[in-house]
Amino acid sequence: MMERIAIYPGSFDPVTSGHLEIIRRSSKLFDKIIVVVMTNYRKTGSYAFSIEERENLIRKCIGDLPNVSVDSYMGLLADYARKTGATAIVKGLRAVSDFEDEFQQALINKKLNPEVETVFLAASSEHMFLSSSVIKQVCQLDGDVSLFIPKEITEDVIEKLKR
Ligand code: ADP
Repeated sequence: MMERIAIYPGSFDPVTSGHLEIIRRSSKLFDKIIVVVMTNYRKTGSYAFSIEERENLIRKCIGDLPNVSVDSYMGLLADYARKTGATAIVKGLRAVSDFEDEFQQALINKKLNPEVETVFLAASSEHMFLSSSVIKQVCQLDGDVSLFIPKEITEDVIEKLKR
């Protein structure tokens, strides 16, 4: 049977424990997950980590997940899905506030590439308050970010953000 490939797109600036949980859970649902670091033109210029740094941070956290890989892409997600043969786009939903934007993106992506389905996973109650921007704020104000990011990258993130 055909391999079921899903892509999990995001900014991952930096990857959080909430992201990693979605990666873990989706790696059980599909044969292969590609985590793809995207550049959102609305956020360009406001990233703390370069694309390469964001990719490498994710790689450090997925050592025990052999069916997960990391890539980056500048362009339309629908085209990336076509290029990789992915049949699903995975998205994590934290709250109603995520919904409207994600719903719109799902409909647009369906138009641009009818072969691909968007699959929403509900955030766990433990992680639903987490976002990359909250982590950046806490870190810059000397808070303990080790509560919110995978332990494999705590030092890298603190070193970069405190500078
Ligand atoms: P952010 O929204 O924090 O800037 P990204 O753009 O990197 O994050 O998010 C990538 C994907 O991960 C999106 O589908 C987003 O809804 C989801 N996500 C972000 N944080 C969490 C979380 N704490 N739990 C579950 N899903 C999340």
